[in-house]
Amino acid sequence: MSQCYLLLGTNIGDKKHNLLQARELITARIGEITKPSAIYQTSAWGKEDQDDFLNQVLEVETDLSPEHLLSVGLDIEKELGRIRYEHWGERLIDIDILYYEDQVITSQRLTVPHPEIQNRKFTLVPLVELAPDHKHPKMKQTNKDLLEACNDPLEVVKID
Ligand code: ATP
Ligand code: CA
Ligand code: CA
Repeated sequence: MSQCYLLLGTNIGDKKHNLLQARELITARIGEITKPSAIYQTSAWGKEDQDDFLNQVLEVETDLSPEHLLSVGLDIEKELGRIRYEHWGERLIDIDILYYEDQVITSQRLTVPHPEIQNRKFTLVPLVELAPDHKHPKMKQTNKDLLEACNDPLEVVKID
């Protein structure tokens, strides 16, 4: 069994329902969600002319390899009706692999840890909620340290 951290993001339709459906499919096809973060709301990152995002980080125990995990995640995105408009554009659900154990992977299809972790508060805030002392295997800093050093100005608000 391997431990991984996944980031869910959604900014169209019934966003809480999209997250719920994603969690159900992740449990069925990837593995047990051992810890879900709260759900956080953030203004759209990168492109600001679109609806706010909801984000959630999940700690998951999986038997899938990183490559297989990526494929299953992309299948779930598709199945939940994601339409790929444009990079950083709107989407029903986005599933990113943040960490996979302490592995460092750089292939054409997959970069782990996710290359933007340290630049995005909407990723770091829920990550710190779940695993403040978890060390980034490349940057050698904890999630808490990365959040302290992050200068992303977008506000991240916990919702219930
Ligand atoms: P960003 O990666 O900046 O958050 P994005 O999530 O909008 O952007 P997508 O269009 O969802 O980008 O993904 C494009 C491709 O990124 C995927 O098809 C996948 O092959 C690749 N990819 C590389 N590393 C990862 C990772 N750690 N998790 C998920 N996808 C990844
Ligand atoms: Ca993403
Ligand atoms: Ca993605």
